[in-house]
Amino acid sequence: MENSRIHALPEDVINQIAAGEVVERPASVVKELMENALDAGASRIEVQISDGGKSSILIRDNGCGMSEADLDMCYLPHTTSKLKTAEDLFHLATNGFRGEAVASIAAVSKLTITSREEDAAEAHQVHLTGGTPDCKATDASPRGTSFLIEDLFFNAPVRKTFLGSDTLEASRILDTVTRLAMANPNVRIDYKVNGRDVFTGVEGNDLRSRIAEALGAGIARTMLPVDYEEAGIRVSGFAVPPDALKNKRSKLYFYVQKRPIWNPVMTKAVTRAYEPYGSTNAPIAVLFLEMEDVAVDVNVHPNKREVRFANENDVFLAVHHAIRDAFQKPEEDHPTISLEEITAPSPMPSAPAPSMPTLHPEPLFTRKAPAAEPAPSLPEKESAPMPMPFPCPKPAEKTVREKPSKYRSDDPDDIIQDLFSLPENGNIIPLTPQNLRPPTRMDKSTPPQFFQLANTYLVCEDSEGLLLIDQNAAHQRILYEQALNSLGAQAALESQELLFPEIVEFSAAEASVIPSLLETFDQLGFHLELFGKNTYQLRGTPRDLPFSRSVESLRELVSAVFEGDDPGNPSQETLAKAWAKSNAIQAGDKLSTEEMTQLMASLLTTQDPMSSPSGRPTLMRLPLSEIHKRFKR
Ligand code: ADP
Ligand code: MG
Repeated sequence: MENSRIHALPEDVINQIAAGEVVERPASVVKELMENALDAGASRIEVQISDGGKSSILIRDNGCGMSEADLDMCYLPHTTSKLKTAEDLFHLATNGFRGEAVASIAAVSKLTITSREEDAAEAHQVHLTGGTPDCKATDASPRGTSFLIEDLFFNAPVRKTFLGSDTLEASRILDTVTRLAMANPNVRIDYKVNGRDVFTGVEGNDLRSRIAEALGAGIARTMLPVDYEEAGIRVSGFAVPPDALKNKRSKLYFYVQKRPIWNPVMTKAVTRAYEPYGSTNAPIAVLFLEMEDVAVDVNVHPNKREVRFANENDVFLAVHHAIRDAFQKPEEDHPTISLEEITAPSPMPSAPAPSMPTLHPEPLFTRKAPAAEPAPSLPEKESAPMPMPFPCPKPAEKTVREKPSKYRSDDPDDIIQDLFSLPENGNIIPLTPQNLRPPTRMDKSTPPQFFQLANTYLVCEDSEGLLLIDQNAAHQRILYEQALNSLGAQAALESQELLFPEIVEFSAAEASVIPSLLETFDQLGFHLELFGKNTYQLRGTPRDLPFSRSVESLRELVSAVFEGDDPGNPSQETLAKAWAKSNAIQAGDKLSTEEMTQLMASLLTTQDPMSSPSGRPTLMRLPLSEIHKRFKR
């Protein structure tokens, strides 16, 4: 035995390893303890954090509380009041059941638990350091339980290094809080960061109002109710209709038996259900699945966020059909939403997106029940085409945008050479800075001849052949460098004051990072002023941005920043990229000759005229020699 290299691990090490599985970051602490509070029947939960939860997290509930004896047990590994037999593992009546969370949190923090049962004379308190109790007391706290976690990971320095900035961790906690809040609209939930209210969910709310508190009233108002059952799977909740989507970032909230989960099959099912409507914006939905406990395994991951479905295909189809069903429900089914509101044209007249009415004389998205709806026959496989009871727009323009249009003759014998089906990229070569020459006639005396192809590409001649310029990629490059310059020089870009300031509402998560970004936004030409909770007044926008696009552009900027590595403190590159993307001329925008000339001239003055900030090519050339060859000269 003396020589044995294998030995049992000391208990504190075991507990720390177990803690690592459950407690990854401050948000996991909040998740576990909020779930415990819900299991304890709380109707009110308060979450308060400071410094991203790194220095302290307080979670207080008014639930059933614990007796002194229970309090002494709850932080020991594998102690629970919720699971008695292995059979119980397959039921989800409560959130917890592994008896790991409190022990794991205790192992990596300094923890004070205070709890009082309804009829108890006083509250009991225990203080632990790294899982070891070092002090007990009583006090006069009201019924319920509070967990105060201080100095998280004080004894696990490596884990600390994996944490993000305070803002990032706080926004992760906010995500956890809002996910649980939407599953429990009847519970009052407050979340404060460094003493400031960040989320308030008022008790007694219905789901739509709770969604309004979490995602914004604008989103909540447009949402259609989902209520559908198939193959023993009930799907309920809300989804934003395709034509009311405004953001590029999807917001999908999934729950199984009311427990927040993450599941790729559900994501795919929802995304596919939106696809035929041709929206270029990302889906938003809050969906609850209920099914028999045997149909779902929640023990895949210690924090129970991932689940495994016994029949993924059934889940896919149920979710997919549920969303479709919601989009098709006749008006009477959801009287709270006015049809005008839903079908109002999007305020972007100057920039027809692929789904704009100009391209499709029929309204793209109408919730009127089709006269003779074919009985939806359920496809066998998930890849089978889904039944579509009313016309879905084909992404007609998209095809054009992805691939330049083809020149075709009606007469099959009289073939005009299709330039773009030449073998292997048709010898259209992306240019390099070395071989780029400005269009030959790009001097003042003879204005260059540009024309626009599919309202997406500029076409002109240069000394070597035919130039194709992607107007969106080119404009992004120009704007990106402008933004970088002004951020670097701390010089604000020109802004135009809005005569009638727009009110813009953000999700609680987004609103939590905006205060730290106001100055930077100013530099980029967006003047924002706090207007109300999660709501800002947009008072000025970048000079060249069409007014019709200002709000949308701001939203895109905010969501791009929010998606970045560090939303509270984004890099200049991230900001410049996002700004360029949200302000640039879009594919599909009609340009005047002057605009085209200006765009090309500005592009040629940038540091890297060949590629967009995200690495897409801006320019390509079809060489004259290639054209000669094709015409057999
Ligand atoms: P689990 O939730 O899996 O049972 P935990 O480690 O999260 O395991 O909690 C251990 C036990 O502590 C719970 O079973 C419960 O009895 C008690 N407990 C934890 N938090 C609370 C709370 N907020 N209110 C009442 N009891 C609680
Ligand atoms: Mg628990």
